[in-house]
Amino acid sequence: MTIMMPAADQAVLARREAIIAALRKLVPGEGVISSAAEMLPYESDGLMAYRQPPMVVVLPDTTEQVSKVLKYCHENGIKVVPRGSGTSLSGGALPLADAVLLGLGKFKRVREIDFDNRAVVVEPGVTNLAISQAVAHAGFYYAPDPSSQIACSIGGNVAENSGGVHSLKYGMTTNNLLGCEIVLMSGEVIRVGGKTAETSGYDLMGIITGSEGLLGVITEITVRILQKPETARALMIGFAEVEHAGQCVADVISAGIIPGGMEMMDKPAIHAAEAFVHAGYPLDVEALLIIELDGPGVEVDELIKRVEKIALGCGSTTCQISTSEQERLLFWSGRKAAFPAVGRISPDYLCMDGTIPRAALPLVLRRMKEMSAKYGLGVANVFHAGDGNLHPLILYDANKPGELQLAEDFGADILRLCVEVGGVLTGEHGVGIEKRDLMPEMFSEVDLNQQQRIKCAFDAQGLLNPGKVFPTLHRCAELGRVHVHGGKLAFPDLPRF
Ligand SMILES: Cc1cc2nc3c(=O)[nH]c(=O)nc-3n(C[C@H](O)[C@H](O)[C@H](O)COP(=O)(O)OP(=O)(O)OC[C@H]3O[C@@H](n4cnc5c(N)ncnc54)[C@H](O)[C@@H]3O)c2cc1C
Repeated sequence: MTIMMPAADQAVLARREAIIAALRKLVPGEGVISSAAEMLPYESDGLMAYRQPPMVVVLPDTTEQVSKVLKYCHENGIKVVPRGSGTSLSGGALPLADAVLLGLGKFKRVREIDFDNRAVVVEPGVTNLAISQAVAHAGFYYAPDPSSQIACSIGGNVAENSGGVHSLKYGMTTNNLLGCEIVLMSGEVIRVGGKTAETSGYDLMGIITGSEGLLGVITEITVRILQKPETARALMIGFAEVEHAGQCVADVISAGIIPGGMEMMDKPAIHAAEAFVHAGYPLDVEALLIIELDGPGVEVDELIKRVEKIALGCGSTTCQISTSEQERLLFWSGRKAAFPAVGRISPDYLCMDGTIPRAALPLVLRRMKEMSAKYGLGVANVFHAGDGNLHPLILYDANKPGELQLAEDFGADILRLCVEVGGVLTGEHGVGIEKRDLMPEMFSEVDLNQQQRIKCAFDAQGLLNPGKVFPTLHRCAELGRVHVHGGKLAFPDLPRF
């Protein structure tokens, strides 16, 4: 493991048996898992290069149980790591040796479907796709659609502010949330937002969204649902140069067209996806754009013609337009399966996630090619092109000594490049442990301290998901007074990792 985590509290570990016994009283039945074999599935999330067995796994199924567990942990100085489905690609749900892993997998109920208010109230363990499935019979759906939507939980989506191919037009999770119930580390339960579009006071929903399990445990979520568009059709457009595809993306947006989705794949990703799902992707192109247009039929027909013309003006070499729903889904099938497809051509890969201004795409791709040669590692690129959100997949072999480190260094250089060109370190996968130590590339000490003051307002003892997001831990009472003078660091006893 090359990323340092907070040292385990030996005093807590010495009390492990007593802690487990106390937790069993709070969550009876099969709600507490403590044997090494049964905890195995929980020792990693989607960032599988990192593993750590937790001290104990607790699986509550009511808000009251979550509240009691957190109150007990708060009073006894025990750390807690919340977990949804464990698909995080940034290590957000990675356990700690001295922490309770609090799984929300039993929170599986859709509590209310309210078509009049276009809202659905769900528990956090409900999968993203299950929300759309629950309202599909009435022609509605939940818009943010991460590629992991069959598995990832809506609680995890809120905690990571997840997006998907349709976020360009319909927004990320944050744009589709109305309210939630959160249990604070103290065990107190608060409600934020509701079914109305407007709330008074500070935008706490905005703070909770993307908080990566550091502020509270989300136990209920109210999302907005949308009516399915009358028509959706997709174009699959090939280009001989990646730059031409990048220009096409910029030209479509500047023409005032906001597609339902606009995704790009480079040659290695196209070949991997085609070999996996046989979507009919052209193999003689350097870049492929999938552009989906949705809305009333006549409008979609008109927009398809305009996009086709723009693409031709940018030098497209192939263009296919879906003529049936089946064909539209086929176009998407390769893109949606791109990650597992790349998994077939390389023993391991690291999926990076950064965002850049769209215009910087050609430069960033060129520099990535140079880095690929420098590190001697291949890279396949999949982008939410309309959002400027990159997902370079760095190919490596964990069995070759030193390759994981090389892949991580390569990834860090890509993220630094994103910041250098005016972008940001994350698109939709969160910071977790993966980008934690790169936060100072983007934020000043003042910025980071200010963000930690928010954390302190929710969790003053720093017991919720420590070691994630912030590169340096500050004790809340001392925040704002940590500075280096004459080369000497104040509060040298504070953990810095
Ligand atoms: C193949 C694949 C494709 C993916 N595609 C996408 C994509 O297109 N777009 C995208 O945005 N992401 C994508 N992801 C990443 C991942 O699916 C998302 O980040 C997802 O939102 C994580 O949800 P989860 O339930 O698995 O959360 P987990 O991995 O269990 O947890 C993620 C974080 O949320 C916190 N958390 C979870 N539940 C709660 C809760 N109830 N209360 C408080 N904190 C909580 C955890 O502590 C952790 O920090 C992909 C992942 C994979 C493996």
